Amino acid sequence: MPNFEKLNIPNAGQVITFKDGNPIVPNNPIVPFIRGDGTGVDIWPATQNVIDAAIFKCYGDERKIHWFKVYAGDEACDIYGTYNYLPKDTIEAIKHFGVAIKGPLTTPVGGGIRSLNVALRQIFDLYSCVRPCKYYKGTPSPHKSPEDLDIIVYRENTEDIYMGIEWEADDETCIKLINYLNNEIIPNSPKLKNRSLPKNAGIGIKPVSKFGSQRHIRKAIEHAKKLSEGKRHVTLVHKGNIMKFTEGSFRDWGYELAVNEFRNDCITERESWILDNINNNPAISVENNARLIEPGFDKLTSAKRETICEEIKSVIKNIGDTHGNNKWKKLVLVDDRIADSIFQQIQTRPQEYSILATLNLNGDYLSDAAAAIVGGLGMAPGANIGDKAAIFEATHGTAPKHAGLNKINPGSVILSAVMMLEYFGWEEPANLITMGISRSIEQKKVTYDLARLMEPQVKPLSCSEFGESIIENF
Ligand code: NAP
Repeated sequence: MPNFEKLNIPNAGQVITFKDGNPIVPNNPIVPFIRGDGTGVDIWPATQNVIDAAIFKCYGDERKIHWFKVYAGDEACDIYGTYNYLPKDTIEAIKHFGVAIKGPLTTPVGGGIRSLNVALRQIFDLYSCVRPCKYYKGTPSPHKSPEDLDIIVYRENTEDIYMGIEWEADDETCIKLINYLNNEIIPNSPKLKNRSLPKNAGIGIKPVSKFGSQRHIRKAIEHAKKLSEGKRHVTLVHKGNIMKFTEGSFRDWGYELAVNEFRNDCITERESWILDNINNNPAISVENNARLIEPGFDKLTSAKRETICEEIKSVIKNIGDTHGNNKWKKLVLVDDRIADSIFQQIQTRPQEYSILATLNLNGDYLSDAAAAIVGGLGMAPGANIGDKAAIFEATHGTAPKHAGLNKINPGSVILSAVMMLEYFGWEEPANLITMGISRSIEQKKVTYDLARLMEPQVKPLSCSEFGESIIENF
């Protein structure tokens, strides 16, 4: 047990441990919580009431969370001193107890930390950011059929352009780097031909590794395996048509992982086409089957045609028995979509998608766009998950102008707590809270943000009343 400078550890409860990246949760886990800045002061008490009530209703005294208050953000500075936004105590507590939940935090101006949220993700190597976007009946939405969207965005959290390795235009190092690339690297790379970087450009580096991509996609596939039939589907989202060796490789490494590591659990979209076409046409030759699955087959070179025929033979030989005759429909389907196309598809054909595995930047945009479809950030939960720790969090910020007024929507943090309970394997209270939220919204018992969008307008509940309404609906 670490020695804490200013924290009071609960006098009962046990530590959550991890095995092979999964939590082993006792019946009485100690869970550190960061109340959060701004509206955190309103949101956290409402959230804790809802979680405790749901656990008690489902398990009585058999299970209980022992909450452990730790500090970050403005509150931490009050306790630990100016600019001490993320005290060592807090880091040690999360490291030791493994799973934490947090309200929103102010991004500090000064003090050397770019963002507390980013810092927490980096310190604990929380490499997957998970954001479910699902519609609760009655929530006002700008869309005609928001209930058709039920997806989980899996956003890689540690790599990509978000690593912040960048140089400002005209910075001395930036000029050196541009000269080096223009004079030595590009001329010696035949594929880059005679391109050159503009002289006064700023530069950012976009690293995407096989290790980083695969450990993230592995989590997404593991998650998909636990979903109901029809939702076992992981779509690799990328812009590989333009950024071949970063975004394109993300897609390729994803397929490689699906086939090599999850052979009995997964099928790729292409394999499913092959099996479906073969199944529908058992009598026709491999070459004719190839014509069916490969548009423009006859115009391809003979070597390419031969490769496709070999691919078909190999799919039939290797997985025809195990995955054919529609058996694959019970497995995880892995396909891929270009990032810009998925933005329109979650609006035009949302039913077709389940888990979207993305790189860092694409996932950032996509999760907010998906949240908007189902009713906005007030109802959008999130989790940052690694192999030895997980932090569940609000996806919105501190909304300072609403702080302390007991009016803000606590839905995002409450739904993040639902994700935490699911992560524990405590499905019963998780389902109870989800049901309580749904019913409360259907009864139009909502906070101001949703109330103002309802037709006809309804009188809003306060933050704490919304929490109570959820509990009354258990
Ligand atoms: P914000 O705090 O998310 O607030 C922007 C607006 O979003 C609010 O004025 C409010 O809109 C709406 N909103 C936010 N939380 C809501 C909730 N729980 N229920 C209903 N509506 C909600 O964004 P910001 O003002 O740009 O950022 C403020 C601070 O938060 C900054 O320091 C920023 O860095 C930080 N931040 C932290 C996180 C995080 O901790 N994960 C995320 C984003 C930003 P209306 O006023 O129109 O109702």
